[in-house]
Amino acid sequence: MYYIDPHIHMVARTTDDYETLAKMGCVAVSEPAFWAGYDRGSVAGFRDYFEQLTSFEPKRAGWFRVQHYSWLCINPKEAEHISLAREVIAMIPEFLNRPGVLGIGEIGLNKNTRNEAIVFLEHVDLAVKTDVLLLVHTPHLADKYQGTRMTLDMLCGDSRINRERVIVDHVEEHTVRHVLDRGFWAGMTLYPVTKCTPARAVDILEIHGPERLLVNSAGDWGPSKPTAVPDFILEMRRRGHPESLIRRVVYDNPREFLGQSRNFVFRPPDVLEHAETQA
Ligand SMILES: [Zn+2]
Repeated sequence: MYYIDPHIHMVARTTDDYETLAKMGCVAVSEPAFWAGYDRGSVAGFRDYFEQLTSFEPKRAGWFRVQHYSWLCINPKEAEHISLAREVIAMIPEFLNRPGVLGIGEIGLNKNTRNEAIVFLEHVDLAVKTDVLLLVHTPHLADKYQGTRMTLDMLCGDSRINRERVIVDHVEEHTVRHVLDRGFWAGMTLYPVTKCTPARAVDILEIHGPERLLVNSAGDWGPSKPTAVPDFILEMRRRGHPESLIRRVVYDNPREFLGQSRNFVFRPPDVLEHAETQA
């Protein structure tokens, strides 16, 4: 089955991983900007990173016929350095019109601090003013419930935001309803540690339905599995769910959400095949 992974950090993965994803049916990935494992020291470091995300990664993905899209921001882990965060936010518009750039992300809270909230709101303001999509991270484990409530309150406090153009990611059993009920898209992240397993994600889908729900692997430099979405597909099949429902969650839904961006120029695989026959 063809699928799209809407949240995966491919700069941290090998070229072999792209090949594996392609063999498993992945036709497109969207890659939010992420923490490098250390705090970057200057705005120039971020400019170089955004260059990599918007130029080399799409090329590397293209070697395996995988389409690559990206999101830009400074990570919440680096938000305590407010002056640097503001310099990065001021530089982001240089990249927003590049092919494949969908919006601002992944922004959000990490430890739910005041500075994180300030940097979050300044990113949101940039997204609204430039009319791009928003991808929002929610904190892990003990901080998740409180952090998700804080995040939703901040987003709902800004009447300029079109909630259908925002995804709130890393939802779990105790946060998914809050996100969906307020009109946002919700992302379930499958992860070997700290986040949701494929079985839990299928449970959540069975309870809440497929409307505005996405599933992703978040594959990054930590313990993570870039092929987690195929694991979810397999678990859905094991439980006897129809292919149409599986396809809706892993292919149609991400196309619908990401397709709201003017820079999501998706080429469906059947069109690729057709073009090849004509060549
Ligand atoms: Zn991420």
